Amino acid sequence: MSVAGIIGAPAPVGNLVVSLLDILYYPDPLLRRNASQVKNVDGEVAKLVDNMLETMYDAPGIGLAATQVNVHQRVVVIDVSEENNTPLIFINPIITSSEGVAEMQEGCLSIPGVYESVKRPADVRIEAIDREGNPFEMDADGLLAVCIQHEIDHLDGKLFVDYLSILKRNRIRKRMEKWIRDGADLDDLPERPERH
Ligand SMILES: [Zn+2]
Repeated sequence: MSVAGIIGAPAPVGNLVVSLLDILYYPDPLLRRNASQVKNVDGEVAKLVDNMLETMYDAPGIGLAATQVNVHQRVVVIDVSEENNTPLIFINPIITSSEGVAEMQEGCLSIPGVYESVKRPADVRIEAIDREGNPFEMDADGLLAVCIQHEIDHLDGKLFVDYLSILKRNRIRKRMEKWIRDGADLDDLPERPERH
């Protein structure tokens, strides 16, 4: 029996209650954890998805993996639309085939202010589960293909700076450590839309 109503705590109203989640910053070792498969797409997972979308749009970013908000489950949200009105949800995503090579400049909400070119497969086929628990398949190219690969890397504890030279990565790590020491103020960084 719950007495929450009696003492006046507000009851959550479906999806209207969303929270912004704290994003982990590189080189936090928690970003290196391997995320677990989601066993049941239940209300808790749906709530995580909603909070992740809110956090991604607020940042603003075009993609977010649960690992980045210190939840080590295989959940990814993406929105690469111009109007930020086409959220895509990928639970337990896997890439089943890939083709070609594309080079694109990438950024990351966990490594703010850093943008570097990364080569990845250009076209990918993805299998995942949606927010309602239904499996689906999707073909992706362009920015979406880059984004989904970047986010699946997060679930495997991998970051886009891992594709750079050790020298470059060390320089970025030192710069990030200094930025965190100085208070991790996002206003100290250049504003760019395509972070994920
Ligand atoms: Zn990222």
